[in-house]
Amino acid sequence: MIGAGGSGLAAIKNFKQHGFDVDCYERETGVGGAWNWRHDRSPVYASTHLISSKPFTQFPDFPMPDDWPDYPHHSRLLAYFERYTDHFGLREHIWFGTEVVKVVPTNEDDPNTSWDVTVKGVRGGSEKTLRYAAVVVANGHNWAPKLPSYPGLDTFQGTVLHASAYKDAAQLRGKRVLVVGAGNTGCDIAVEGAQQGARCWHSSRRGYWYAPKYAFGKPADQVNDRVLGLGVPLKIRQWLFHFTMRLTVGDLQRFGLPKPDHKIYETHPISNSQLVYHVGHGGITPVPDIERFDGNQVVFTDGSTADPEVVVLATGYLPRFEFLAPRLYGGDDRGRPHLRWQLFSPAHPTLSFVGLVQPDSGIFTICHWQSELAAAWLRLNDTAPDRASAWWRKAVEPGGKYSDADVKDSSRHWLEVSHWVYLKALERALKSLERVPA
Ligand SMILES: Cc1cc2nc3c(=O)[nH]c(=O)nc-3n(C[C@H](O)[C@H](O)[C@H](O)COP(=O)(O)OP(=O)(O)OC[C@H]3O[C@@H](n4cnc5c(N)ncnc54)[C@H](O)[C@@H]3O)c2cc1C
Repeated sequence: MIGAGGSGLAAIKNFKQHGFDVDCYERETGVGGAWNWRHDRSPVYASTHLISSKPFTQFPDFPMPDDWPDYPHHSRLLAYFERYTDHFGLREHIWFGTEVVKVVPTNEDDPNTSWDVTVKGVRGGSEKTLRYAAVVVANGHNWAPKLPSYPGLDTFQGTVLHASAYKDAAQLRGKRVLVVGAGNTGCDIAVEGAQQGARCWHSSRRGYWYAPKYAFGKPADQVNDRVLGLGVPLKIRQWLFHFTMRLTVGDLQRFGLPKPDHKIYETHPISNSQLVYHVGHGGITPVPDIERFDGNQVVFTDGSTADPEVVVLATGYLPRFEFLAPRLYGGDDRGRPHLRWQLFSPAHPTLSFVGLVQPDSGIFTICHWQSELAAAWLRLNDTAPDRASAWWRKAVEPGGKYSDADVKDSSRHWLEVSHWVYLKALERALKSLERVPA
């Protein structure tokens, strides 16, 4: 396993339960990955709470405590991962402070190849190469900033930081702030800019559907899932969502926000009850995309300008696998991975990627079932290699598309899946693996 964030932990647990010996390498000094704010690369900030609600985020076999709120704070997520680690005895499998620097197949022509994994201590020391029957990559995809470039940015005298370096609202206190990007992080930071800054502009390329975190007194994702459970078709769900938005938030254009150029579910959901509130109170000024920087002024595509002291680029993250040749994860010339079941290396089922998904819900239920499938395949390969190979050759993916809506083509959606579509595909794959004939 590479990484002891939530995905890696689920993988260690499930591979262990399938009877495998497991080593996990984690470059940081603790578990929890992104949710461990002590880690240098953790993208969470002081106010980060879950965006997906508790039951849709937790591992299916390890519920979060009943007395925790619907959307726990990031410190509770870390406590949750620590308890999971101790409960399932995972710590003894993890080599902390150890980075994986290279993973190469021992026989490229063999789909079931074993792997040479090179590791090194983050505090120095020599590299070491070890051989493994299978490798699970769980290195996360929210730590390598995606940075935009703008003409004139190099002449700007103010502070420019990516959201990964934003840790606390104190960084904005009393300042004129421009937040770029309207994903969940950009919206959170814009709200803090409104509360703590002297002024806050919020730049987005397009209009989005800013859904409230609660609908009808329940976490919005739970309401959405009730509707899904009734088997309501996409078009009617879209209509219902737009209707509920009209009833609750109302017409976003009335607040000066741009009209969304897409239907709901066609971009990654944004869940924020406070953004529209602060726009309505004048704390946030919505502005379009940045055209250029002109000295200390920012010029937007509609010709309007702003003079921020701090610019926060909440422009997202890109997946990165420096230790792997791109062909092993089907990387195209933009670096986008193309996997089978969004899980297995296209050529080698002995190399899998857990957590390389961006669901419209919490991720850890998905990581659990992804690692179950990877472990079940490997177990079959151990006991009945012909059956495992037959499954790998014949098992059909549902066209590799795991979203029922037409998701916008942008790097933000490279890993996007609808949780119910994807979980069903994993379930089908697991069942077909059990039934594969001898
Ligand atoms: C602000 C914010 C809010 C979010 N809110 C939610 C939410 O509400 N619900 C949700 O489900 N998700 C949310 N996410 C997504 C978040 O990425 C996932 O919850 C989760 O962190 C994914 O777990 P992971 O284990 O796949 O990756 P990570 O948590 O990133 O863990 C990866 C681990 O791999 C280690 N690693 C990486 N490379 C190497 C290497 N070469 N060698 C050794 N170790 C390595 C890292 O140190 C890290 O510990 C949010 C993300 C952000 C940024």
